[in-house]
Amino acid sequence: MQICLTHFLPFAMLHIMFTPQKLYEGKAKILYTTDDPTILLTVFKDDATAFNAQKRGTIVGKGDINCAMSQHLFRLLETQGMATHLIDCPTPNTMRVRAVKILPLEVVVRNIAAGSLCQQTGLELGTSLTPPLVEFYYKNDALGDPLLTGDRLQLLHLATPAQVAQLRTMALQINAVLSEFFDKCGITLVDFKLEFGLDQQQTILLADEISPDTCRLWNQAESDPNLRVMDKDRFRRDLGQVEEAYQRVLERVLAQDF
Ligand code: UDP
Repeated sequence: MQICLTHFLPFAMLHIMFTPQKLYEGKAKILYTTDDPTILLTVFKDDATAFNAQKRGTIVGKGDINCAMSQHLFRLLETQGMATHLIDCPTPNTMRVRAVKILPLEVVVRNIAAGSLCQQTGLELGTSLTPPLVEFYYKNDALGDPLLTGDRLQLLHLATPAQVAQLRTMALQINAVLSEFFDKCGITLVDFKLEFGLDQQQTILLADEISPDTCRLWNQAESDPNLRVMDKDRFRRDLGQVEEAYQRVLERVLAQDF
């Protein structure tokens, strides 16, 4: 199938004719091949889902915002020595990335208790978690992305013990860098989800995105538990002003140099 890329490729690239294949369409992004097998193109969508896609909607401008924010934060992490899949962003909602084999894991880091941790443990919302909690979930929509134990990770051969140890170390390093960065933005990084992939040399690279879709972000200037929310919980919990919150996060992130 010939896909018209003219709406998201710069004019300089239009002379390069190729037939991109849609490799995968997820809830928030579409992945295309390029003429280089080591490079893929991610298109960030405005579509929003929650509760394992039971709730669906649109957050206008989200694709551009999440792409720009992910690019800025991946660059920040690269300056701190962390390898990511980012190459560059040819247009506002497209990111060229190194092709990796995504590990079927969602790595969640938590600094403050919220969301499923409170629901499943009874911990009070806002409880400080020191040291931060690192959790592994099975990236499997059909099963509802269940929380994994170390033994289940090995049982299902989802990653080797050495890879699990490395993912945990990388997740904590990323958390340290991002927490300090968001703090300078006047935002508390409550928790977030990361995805990783293996390149052809089996090196683990940070992949996917880092955005208000995948992080809980609380405005430090607000103490009200609803007003402080600057992330996808505004959509999940029908708090309103979703687009405005995403835009405010992006402005603060882009204003903060590194
Ligand atoms: N998260 C995500 N994708 C998922 C599940 C969780 O990006 O499929 C993020 C979520 O936005 C939050 C963190 O991971 O920042 C922890 O989410 P939690 O386990 O509390 O689940 P939730 O309450 O969001 O269902």
